[in-house]
Amino acid sequence: PPLHRQRHQFVVDFVKRNKPQKVLDLGCCECSLLKRLKFHREVHLLVGLDIDGTKVKKKMHELAPLSTDYLQPSYDQLCIELYEGSVTERDARLRGFDLVTSIELIEHLTLADVKRFSEVVFGYMTPAAAIVSTPNCEYNPLLPGLRGFRHSDHKFEWSRAEFKSWALKVCSQFGYEVEFTGVGQPASGYQESVGFCSQIGVFRRLERGDDRNTLGGADAEEVYSYKLLCSI
Ligand code: SAM
Repeated sequence: PPLHRQRHQFVVDFVKRNKPQKVLDLGCCECSLLKRLKFHREVHLLVGLDIDGTKVKKKMHELAPLSTDYLQPSYDQLCIELYEGSVTERDARLRGFDLVTSIELIEHLTLADVKRFSEVVFGYMTPAAAIVSTPNCEYNPLLPGLRGFRHSDHKFEWSRAEFKSWALKVCSQFGYEVEFTGVGQPASGYQESVGFCSQIGVFRRLERGDDRNTLGGADAEEVYSYKLLCSI
């Protein structure tokens, strides 16, 4: 299957194994991942956020219930919300999720905004788990005809060491642990030297019993900076 499907399948498999109830997709674009997650009965709240409301609105009607959906026993328990806003801004409605996904998003941010993203996601939203994917530039020589970045809007493409260094810093700053994996296997023999085409970090929050390093603890003022586009 194409790489974007493999990335979404990775999230779907994680959801099947871990059964999160509240899932938030950052940079949800045309909601294609949300559409796939809608069919998992454990998920009760499915939220998408993107800076580009026009992209979100384009296909969001496809998230509305089909008559056949009502044949699913748990369907009436599912709530879907879509927001326009930036991952660099806080919004109190997006705290306390079981899983936050960020699929091919961070490479579209400047490094200053990646820092804000880390603070907002791991320091403020504080999900129990997070899945972050980004291109692995060590794989690029295997992509035919590629010069420069994989997409003209990418601000950077990290090597495995660069991704790891960012992820480990996030973990020590905000109390998470991370496992590294990916999707898109090169031909056998290349795996060790170049790694996966898309690298993925799976983060899990460490239970600590205090929120020393989390920004905006229980008594922080409520901020609402995103615009609600629809609620289903
Ligand atoms: N996650 C989707 C997927 O897996 O197919 C789409 C990835 S697309 C390459 C990146 C998305 O991130 C775009 O829809 C873009 O509008 C969104 N985006 C870029 N900067 C953002 C920001 N600061 N806050 C929220 N979304 C942002």
